[in-house]
Amino acid sequence: MTKVIVYIGLGSNLATPEAQIKEARQAINVLNAVQERAFSSLYRSPPMGPQDQPDYVNAVMAIKTDLPALELLRSLQKIELDHGRVRKDERWGARTLDLDILLYGEQVINLPDLIVPHYGLTKRAFVLYPLQEIAPILQVPGLGNISALVQDCPLGGLVRLA
Ligand code: ATP
Ligand code: MG
Ligand code: MG
Repeated sequence: MTKVIVYIGLGSNLATPEAQIKEARQAINVLNAVQERAFSSLYRSPPMGPQDQPDYVNAVMAIKTDLPALELLRSLQKIELDHGRVRKDERWGARTLDLDILLYGEQVINLPDLIVPHYGLTKRAFVLYPLQEIAPILQVPGLGNISALVQDCPLGGLVRLA
């Protein structure tokens, strides 16, 4: 299989979020058949959904890989569990680590367990701004170019951390 560039969204708001993101980056780098291509700054963002939880720390990572998309998803979910992610019924509740596949090359994927481009991509400042930082001329399959998407998405309290 040929290699594709994949963008992964990382988020955490529990148990020292900066450390969670750093460890997740290392764990992704250790996966077989994955090479890091870029890593954004860290950003702080207010929570979506339930408001009685801490702010999030977010980042976006670009990797090059020949792992099939579902295999990559399973590997990322294992990393989430290894970092103490507890899946609860409540949507968008606090979590130690969330690793979402934002883009998988130029592919559009509609499987029961995997939707790519990620369905929230166009609405989420904490995804679009770090993505633009590392991929300023990106074309998002079916959705247009990254600068147009960023322009249509207010910051909503997103702050880039030093
Ligand atoms: P959101 O998906 O709105 O960001 P979340 O990340 O908190 O919320 P999770 O609990 O991490 O949601 O994942 C719920 C399900 O989403 C997973 O079981 C996974 O199969 C599915 N899923 C669909 N598309 C993707 C994707 N592109 N990346 C990661 N998970 C996905
Ligand atoms: Mg998510
Ligand atoms: Mg997720």
